[in-house]
Amino acid sequence: MPVRGDHAIVLGGSVAGLPTARVLSRYFDTVMIVERDPLPDRAEHRPGVPQSPHLHGLLYGGRLLFDEIYGDEAFTEAMRAVGGPYFDFGRHQAFRFPEGWIKRTSCDLMVVFATRWTMEHVVRRLTQQVPNIHFVQGHVTGLLADTTGARVTGVKARGEEGEWTLEADLVVDACGRGSRSPKWLEKLGFTPPEESVVRSFLGYATVYGYVPDDAWPGDIKSIAAPPFPGATRGGFVVPQENGLVGIMAAGQSRDYPPGDEEGFTEFLRTAITPVMYDMWRQCEPVTEIETTKTSQNRLRRWHELDRRPQGFIPIGDAVAAFNPVYGQGMTSAVLQAKTLGDRLAENDDLDAVVTGFPEDAVQASQFAWSAATDADLGFPATEVENLAVSDKDPETISYLSDMRRAATFDGGVASAFFRAQATLNGGLLFQPQVMERVRTVLAEAGPDERDHERPPEWSEDAEPIALS
Ligand SMILES: Cc1cc2nc3c(=O)[nH]c(=O)nc-3n(C[C@H](O)[C@H](O)[C@H](O)COP(=O)(O)OP(=O)(O)OC[C@H]3O[C@@H](n4cnc5c(N)ncnc54)[C@H](O)[C@@H]3O)c2cc1C
Repeated sequence: MPVRGDHAIVLGGSVAGLPTARVLSRYFDTVMIVERDPLPDRAEHRPGVPQSPHLHGLLYGGRLLFDEIYGDEAFTEAMRAVGGPYFDFGRHQAFRFPEGWIKRTSCDLMVVFATRWTMEHVVRRLTQQVPNIHFVQGHVTGLLADTTGARVTGVKARGEEGEWTLEADLVVDACGRGSRSPKWLEKLGFTPPEESVVRSFLGYATVYGYVPDDAWPGDIKSIAAPPFPGATRGGFVVPQENGLVGIMAAGQSRDYPPGDEEGFTEFLRTAITPVMYDMWRQCEPVTEIETTKTSQNRLRRWHELDRRPQGFIPIGDAVAAFNPVYGQGMTSAVLQAKTLGDRLAENDDLDAVVTGFPEDAVQASQFAWSAATDADLGFPATEVENLAVSDKDPETISYLSDMRRAATFDGGVASAFFRAQATLNGGLLFQPQVMERVRTVLAEAGPDERDHERPPEWSEDAEPIALS
């Protein structure tokens, strides 16, 4: 086993911290996960992840990455074993975009869904099985540095037995959106990273329950109708483990969905499509309606700092957090974890990996960041801080809209579109064969006289586009 150091510490035992620990366990003798919450031994909400009552869809690419990190499709199997529905996203997902409902087509983009608390429990259990990964409960309060002050050597934390410290060759901050690591580094004499923020003032209201099987329209198994400019009220209906269904109202530009039953019902009734409302009327809820307004896109520009300490890297939401309505945060986090593993595999020099990783993490987050912020910038109420909102090439903007419109007519384009989104690989959309199909489809489509109120019935699979 290639060893890059004796001890690594991962701060935060959530969706970024757990796979990061798994990756590091291949290169360090021991990996310690320091988590402030007592970790439950079953699937349940915990306070350190306040977003966990809300719907969390894992992209196809995220599923593959978890499988790659844990090996032997262990993640997918464990998710299915706890009752997570497993289905072809292209075939069974109804997805409403500003241009209409995306054409459904079989495309082997198998996804597995579950409540956020169950998914995290599955990943935690897989991580707990790794012999050199250990968990300790503690609220991290700062970082330790060597006498030069240029190298992080461990952490300070507060636990049941009072204050304690732990030393390591590498400290990874996976403390999420609220991570205080910029402050901790400031205390060591470093300039904290600048932050770019895009706020589109989105709110969620989420409830879980059961619906009769025939409440789903046709063979649709999941519905996504996020808000778009000109239509601030959207929502989702997503299957969860063992027949549970999550219904969520999503409102953009401060059109926040209410948490009382009457207001929630009215919000869904007046949303982009009545399908969420139809399902909600047939739903037997088993939870309260939970609301949140946590939705800003925030990029910490660690990669641009002239001076950073050795021995320390941030990962996951601690680097880049996105408007959750686009469902990319967990996939971006696990992609960053995989990238870290790739760098450690290529390079014996831990300092070189640490030096290069902030740029790697930004690269891994790039597609998700652009997709979320470009979409949010389409809403007039969106506010921007410390980000040059570049005049994006108008041809690209117009092509992306054409591509989404073509995807409402043609399953081949739809499949390429979903694959690009699901693997955070925007390059797929610009392959010549995709661009050519978009042109042909739109030339044949003519004016759009379809009724986009409800998702259309399944018709037939389209000619796939061979992607390289
Ligand atoms: C409302 C909402 C809905 C979302 N929906 C989706 C979705 O559909 N799909 C998707 O992919 N993503 C979604 N996300 C994003 C997703 O939740 C995050 O991207 C993902 O959880 C990032 O994981 P993380 O480990 O970086 O941070 P978190 O999951 O936030 O975990 C941080 C961890 O660090 C611990 N911690 C924090 N501070 C300390 C400390 N000082 N000491 C010790 N431990 C500490 C916390 O207890 C927690 O366990 C959503 C987010 C929100 C807000």
